[in-house]
Amino acid sequence: MSRTKSPPEPAAAPGWDYAPAPETAPVEIASRYGHFIAGEFVPAADGAEFATINPATEEELSRVARGGAEDVERAVAAARRALPRWSRLPGRERAKYLFRIARRLQERARELAVLETLDGGKPIRESRDVDVPEAARHFFYHAGWADKLEFAFPGRRPKPVGVCGQIIPWNFPLLMAAWKLAPALACGNTVVLKPAETTPLTALRLAEILQECELPPGVVNIVTGDGETGAALAAHRGVRKIAFTGSTEVGKKLAAAVAGSRRRLTLELGGKSANIVCEDASLDQAVEGVIDAIFFNQGHVCCAGSRLLVQESILEEFLEKLDWRLRSLRVGDPLDKNTDVGAINSRAQLDRIRTYLRIGLEEGGRLHECHDQPLPAKGFWCRPCYFTNVQPADTLAREEVFGPVLAVMSFRTPEEAIARANNTPYGLAAGIWSDKGSRIFALAARLQAGVVWCNTYNRFDASSPFGGYKESGFGREGGRQGLRPYLELER
Ligand code: NAP
Ligand code: MG
Repeated sequence: MSRTKSPPEPAAAPGWDYAPAPETAPVEIASRYGHFIAGEFVPAADGAEFATINPATEEELSRVARGGAEDVERAVAAARRALPRWSRLPGRERAKYLFRIARRLQERARELAVLETLDGGKPIRESRDVDVPEAARHFFYHAGWADKLEFAFPGRRPKPVGVCGQIIPWNFPLLMAAWKLAPALACGNTVVLKPAETTPLTALRLAEILQECELPPGVVNIVTGDGETGAALAAHRGVRKIAFTGSTEVGKKLAAAVAGSRRRLTLELGGKSANIVCEDASLDQAVEGVIDAIFFNQGHVCCAGSRLLVQESILEEFLEKLDWRLRSLRVGDPLDKNTDVGAINSRAQLDRIRTYLRIGLEEGGRLHECHDQPLPAKGFWCRPCYFTNVQPADTLAREEVFGPVLAVMSFRTPEEAIARANNTPYGLAAGIWSDKGSRIFALAARLQAGVVWCNTYNRFDASSPFGGYKESGFGREGGRQGLRPYLELER
C-alpha cells in the first residue's frame, strides 16, 4: 500500500509565531456567590465559602458558598415544594421553559464560553464551539420530548420520579449541568444540582438564566461546595434519584449510599478507552483523531482515548506522524483562540498527572514530549505527551490519568486488538480506525464499550445515548434512553 511521506519538519524560524488572538468579551464576575435555592441566591447557612481560581493564572475569580447539610436540607425542601406544580404542568408548558433556557444560552454564549474557560482552563475554542452549543442543544432536544413522553414509552403512563440530586465533575461544567438538568426537567422532576468545587461559575450563571426565564422557584436549586456537600446531597432521603458523573471511586460510595433504599442511581464514571488504528487506516486522518481523542480538553475527558493500539506493521510510520503533529500543538493561554491545549484544571490534578508520569518512567515506559514551546510561568500546565514501551499490566495502561498523557501499545492481529482493548475494568468508549467497513463492524461488535466511534472520536449529540458499562457505570444520558431514569412508567 502506498503511503504519503511524513510532512517536512516545520522550518525553524526564530521570532515567527501566530499573533496573539485573545478572546476579549468582557465578563462580569461577582466577588461572591451564594447558593441558588428557591429562585434566590442565598449565603451558606453557616457563612462558609471557598475561592474558585483561574487555573491558567492562579488568580482568585470569586468566592462561592460552601454547602453543608443545612443548605442541602433547604435546597431539597425547596425542590419538594416545587414538585407538585411543576410535575402537573402539561408537557407542552414545561417545553416552553426548556426552549427559553436553550435560546438564552445561545444569546449569552460568548459570555458563558469565556467564563467556562476562565474558571476551568479549557481552550476558548472548545468552550465556544463544543461546551456552550452542546449545552443549548440539550435543552432544545429535551424541550422536544417534554410533551411526547407517552410516545417515548408506548403503552405506559410516564410519571416523574420526584426530587433528583445531581452531582457533576469539573471537566465540562456547563455541559454536564445541561446533560443532567434538561432530561430531569423535561420529565417533570425538580432538582438539586451540585457543581464541582473548582468550576462552579457557569452553573451559577445558568442559575441567573433560569431566573431570567422565570423558571418557577425551587424547580432547580444549585448548592455549591465540595465532596462533603455532594455526600450530604446523596445521603438525603428526600432525594429520589441520584445522577452522578465523576470518578469510579466516588461512584462506588454512592452505590453504597443508596443500597437497600428504593432510591434510583445512574453513574457515569471513569474510563481507559482504547483507540485502535488498523494498518489499512487513513493514517493522517487517524493521527488527527488520536490527537483529538486524548489532547482535547487537556485529556480531562472521561471517554478520552488514553490507550492507543496501533497495528505493528504501521507503528513506526504512525508515531513519526504523531510526533510531527504533536510539535505543532499550541499549549498556553486558554483565552487565546489559537490555543489547542489549555491549563490543567487544578494543582491537585496536575500533581496527580505528574505522579503518573513518574510511575510511567519507573515502570520502564519511554516518555515522548515532542512539544517544546515555553509554558506560561504561572498556572498549571502539562505538555501533551505519549509513552511507548508500555506493557498491558503497567499502571499507565490500566489507570485513568485524566490528563494529556497517551499510552501507546501495538497489536498484530484483530484478535489481539480486541483482547487488549477489553483488558480493563472500564467500558466507556473505544475508537476504530480502518478503511474497511466489514473490519470496523467485526471489531465494534466485540468491544466492551458503551460508545464505539469509527474513523472519528469524541463526537456527541443530545439525541445519541452516552454511557458505559463495567466500572464505567450504568444508565444512559441523551436520546430516548436518557429519559428512562427520570420516569416511573405506570401501566
Ligand atoms: P469526583 O472526584 O468523583 O467528583 C465528581 C463530583 O462528585 C464533584 O462534584 C465532587 O465534588 C463530588 N464528590 C466528591 N466526593 C463525593 C462524595 N463522597 N459524595 C458525593 N459527591 C462527591 O471526580 P472528578 O475528579 O471531579 O472528575 C473526574 C472523573 O469524572 C473522572 O474519573 C472522569 O472519568 C469522570 N467523568 C465521567 C464522565 C462520564 O460521563 N462517564 C464524564 C466526565 C467525567 P468536588 O469536585 O467538590 O470534590
Ligand atoms: Mg476554578
